[in-house]
Amino acid sequence: MEFNIAVIPGDGIGPEIIAEARKVLDRIGEKYGHRFNYTELLMGGASIDVFGEPLTKETLEAAKKSDSVLLGAVGGDVGKSNWYSLPPHLRPEVGLLAIRKGLNLFANIRPAVLFDELKGACPLKQEFVGDGFDFVVVRELTGGIYFGPRRTEQVDGIRKATDTLVYDENEIRRIAKCAFEIAMKRRKKVCSVDKANVLDSSRLWRQVTKEVSADYPEVELTDMLVDNCAMQLVKNPGQFDVILTENMFGDILSDEASMITGSIGMLASASLGEGRLGLYEPIHGSAPDIAGQNKANPIATILSAAMMLRYSFDLATEADCIENAVKAVLKKSYRTIDIMSEDMTLVGTSQMGDLIVKEISGE
Ligand code: NAD
Repeated sequence: MEFNIAVIPGDGIGPEIIAEARKVLDRIGEKYGHRFNYTELLMGGASIDVFGEPLTKETLEAAKKSDSVLLGAVGGDVGKSNWYSLPPHLRPEVGLLAIRKGLNLFANIRPAVLFDELKGACPLKQEFVGDGFDFVVVRELTGGIYFGPRRTEQVDGIRKATDTLVYDENEIRRIAKCAFEIAMKRRKKVCSVDKANVLDSSRLWRQVTKEVSADYPEVELTDMLVDNCAMQLVKNPGQFDVILTENMFGDILSDEASMITGSIGMLASASLGEGRLGLYEPIHGSAPDIAGQNKANPIATILSAAMMLRYSFDLATEADCIENAVKAVLKKSYRTIDIMSEDMTLVGTSQMGDLIVKEISGE
């Protein structure tokens, strides 16, 4: 099959980690008979330098025309870079919000996987981690309290601020569907997280999620209150497969989930919309402190490319192949600086990419 991928290297370590992800995709293409065509686009600081703005209309249009988008990271050193003396609407990170909105991406998917070989990096006690964990947080991205009506006012001389948490059933239905579809490609369990003992929006969330579940009889649906979920994530993270939740709860829980894996350079993410086009990116930033030094860990970006194969292109075998290659390289004790520990072999960005490619080739 043939796929057109818009590639946005971005700033800082972005170009280095994207180069490794492309190496891996190309090897997968050769092995399984696919062709990946890349269109390189500028965003963030790199776009400001050339076009004077972080995301041009033309770039967004090119991204829309692609089958999927693979992004490195954007932004510079906030204290040093000239990009941050520009007005707020022209700064590098504005490109990120604009492309997510422009592509109408309403679902954010963040896997939290504890690799066996990196168990030492997990801040939880071994008794809570057990055999490890492998779950994804599916967060609604364009509704809820971050987008509802808000105001700050003075009432009888007292300052008062109001934010409003609004969801309609269509918004809930489409994100619930997304979570069930993902569960079908995994261990077929959805845990829907809400605050239905207090909030009307959560009660509607629960009803609609239950309705959607009728279309997925193979998937087990459970409900959990958000305060309990925050506790369960540190007490027994192995119980989760797919966590489905609204925007603000998801914002907080997905950061908690990342934290318990203990390694920022390993974590991938995806933002999805109605069709198959998605935006795939590592959760870390542009790490300007190590840019251009061949030190960055490219694995989060390589795993983001694997997610693209799985969720946008329906290439599960190929995605598995990449994930297994990453595990195999870790098992052979190769580490980039961010995940380095005693008795391991330190490698740079490009070496890590080469090792993963070799593993895919079965060498
Ligand atoms: P960061 O994630 O870039 O870096 C935090 C720390 O983690 C740094 O010490 C960095 O060296 C290290 N690190 C991050 N990724 C790594 C990797 N792959 N391998 C090895 N080490 C890695 O966060 P920050 O320093 O707060 O932000 C730097 C810039 O990135 C800022 O301009 C910020 O706005 C931007 N940012 C962009 C995104 C994005 O593009 N999605 C996300 C977060 C931050």
